[in-house]
Amino acid sequence: MLNQQLARMLVPSELEIIKMYRTSGRSYQIEATKRSKQEVCRRCASLCKSIYDHRWVSLRDEPVRGKLIFLKVLKRRFYCKHCRKPFTEPLPGVLPGKRTTQRFQKSVMWACETFQDLKRVRRQYACSYDFIYKAHYDQLERKRRKHNMYPWPKSLGIDEHGFRRNKTYGRREFVTMVVDHKNKKLFDVALGKSTNELKAQLGHIPGRENVKSVTIDMCDPYKNFVKDFFPGAKIVADKFHVLRLLSPALMRARKEVSGTRADARAKRLLLASIKRLGYSERRALRTFLSKHSVLEELYQWKERLHKFYRTPGYHNASKVLKKMISDMAWSSLPEIQRLRKTLRKWQEEILNYWLFRITNARTEGFNNVAKLVKRRAYGFRSFENYRLKLLSACC
Ligand SMILES: [Zn+2]
Repeated sequence: MLNQQLARMLVPSELEIIKMYRTSGRSYQIEATKRSKQEVCRRCASLCKSIYDHRWVSLRDEPVRGKLIFLKVLKRRFYCKHCRKPFTEPLPGVLPGKRTTQRFQKSVMWACETFQDLKRVRRQYACSYDFIYKAHYDQLERKRRKHNMYPWPKSLGIDEHGFRRNKTYGRREFVTMVVDHKNKKLFDVALGKSTNELKAQLGHIPGRENVKSVTIDMCDPYKNFVKDFFPGAKIVADKFHVLRLLSPALMRARKEVSGTRADARAKRLLLASIKRLGYSERRALRTFLSKHSVLEELYQWKERLHKFYRTPGYHNASKVLKKMISDMAWSSLPEIQRLRKTLRKWQEEILNYWLFRITNARTEGFNNVAKLVKRRAYGFRSFENYRLKLLSACC
């Protein structure tokens, strides 16, 4: 199957084929050596011509049509007169110290991402799990360096999701994702969500002063972190998190009224903005609410929040928010008092939405991608590997 012409295409042009034969059922061996008459010493960069000795080196190369290719290269060692030491000649497409070509590693990486599971990769490429893991994450790291190495961008989104349960302490560990809004991709991932943990892992990235806006959901750890870490940035409270603030209270009140949790239609009618409902739906909702005063009051406040977000212009929005907060003081419902407190505390960040007009939607979307990545790998033990996988999946 493997003829001279094909073999010529497989090996790099710097190599000369000595011979080629089949070793077993589907593996082929190509023996080759480098053509060049001289090599450059890696220590002092002088040209060397005198050969010190030879040695055979076995290399794995990318399989061709299901056939395994083994390259056996007669490598020369040259003697450098300046350094008075021998050195081994480099091979094109092979990193120093590696026993596989870069092409082989890339091919394994492709298989890891395309094949259903790693067992199939192992069978196809006839190599160990250890090698597959190592090659895969090596390649991911290379990809990260190529695409994800730039200073802090202007606008960021930060959010967290659960990662694994810590076996020693039994508590859940979180992962923080930082999204670059402009380039629409994941910028970096860090383990944990406290200021100290984030600082330790993200501190090395230059250009913190570039950051002008950061979207977060309303939680104090991230607020403190952003204030501390990005001195020039404005915090924007995520719109959808603000709109969602009353949902749990609404659902609880509905459950008390109807006695059941599972009523998809009622849930949708209550939670959706009234603008999205049709005429008959609005009428049904109105009749339902007229019978339950607590639910109705909660609903009115929720609609007011939605309406607030439709206000045009920063100054108008600021006025509307102040009016809403002062009106809430008259309400007797504890949920509304709690909402009032939250809105007062996050007033500035909520209004910043009108200055930047960004939300955390993409960050939440990447949370979903993260879930899929975890599922596909049946969970991760190493955070470093998880991080590489996420960075490669979310770009
Ligand atoms: Zn030298």
